[in-house]
Amino acid sequence: MRQVDFAQLRNQTQERMSLFSPRENELKQLVDELTAIFSEAEEVLKQHQDSDRSLIACGAGCQDCCVVNVSITLLEGIAIAQFLRSLDSVNFKSISTRLDLLWRDVRGLDDDERMVLRRQCAFLDERGYCLIYPVRPLFCRSVTSTDVEHCRAAVSGQVFGEVQPVMMHQFQLQLYKTLFSGVADGLERAGLDGRSFQLCGLVRYLLSYPDRDEELLTRSSLCWDEIYT
Ligand code: SF4
Repeated sequence: MRQVDFAQLRNQTQERMSLFSPRENELKQLVDELTAIFSEAEEVLKQHQDSDRSLIACGAGCQDCCVVNVSITLLEGIAIAQFLRSLDSVNFKSISTRLDLLWRDVRGLDDDERMVLRRQCAFLDERGYCLIYPVRPLFCRSVTSTDVEHCRAAVSGQVFGEVQPVMMHQFQLQLYKTLFSGVADGLERAGLDGRSFQLCGLVRYLLSYPDRDEELLTRSSLCWDEIYT
C-alpha cells in the first residue's frame, strides 16, 4: 500500500462527516459512518508498509493504560451509548453502576490526578477486556506500547511526579489522531457538536437521557455542569 497522506485523510474524514445531518433523521447513518471509519482504519493498519505492528506489546487482557482520562467526541459517546443500550439488562445495569461509581471518584480530576488515582475504566471487565471494544474511542485505538513494563513504570512514576517515556507505534498514533481531528472538524462543518468530552462522564450522562442523542448533537447544547452532576 502507498504512503498515507494524513492531511488528505483528515480532509476526507471531515468531508464524510459533514455530509450528514441528524436534523434529517440521519443519526443512525452518522453512527454507521463512524463505525465504517473504525473498520477502514483497521484495514489500513493491516496493510500499510509503515504499519509493522510486530513490536506492539498490547493485547487482550492488558489493562495498564486504562486508568487515564479519555477524550471522545459526542458522536463517539453516542455510538458507545447505543452499543451499551443493546446489551442485556444485567450487563447494562452493571456497567451503569460502574460508571456512576467511577464518575463519583474521578470527576473534576485533571489528567495527572486521574493517573495517580489509578481507577480503572468502567468498561474493563474482570479479565481486563474492554467491554466496548467494537466501538472503543479513537483515543484508545491510538495508544500502543512496545513494552508492557514501560506502561506500568509510566503510570507508577506519575505518583511521584515522574514522566516516563512509553514507545508507541507512531503510524497508528498519527492515523487515529488524524481521524479524531477529521471527525471533530466534520461534525462542526455540518453544524453539529464536534467538541470533545471525558469518556466516563459523557457516556454516563447519555445513558441517563436515552432520548437526547439527536438533540444534543444537533443543538450543541451540552454543558459541563450537566455532565458533572
Ligand atoms: S474504553 Fe476500553 S480501551 Fe478505552 S480505556 Fe476503557 S477499557 Fe480501556
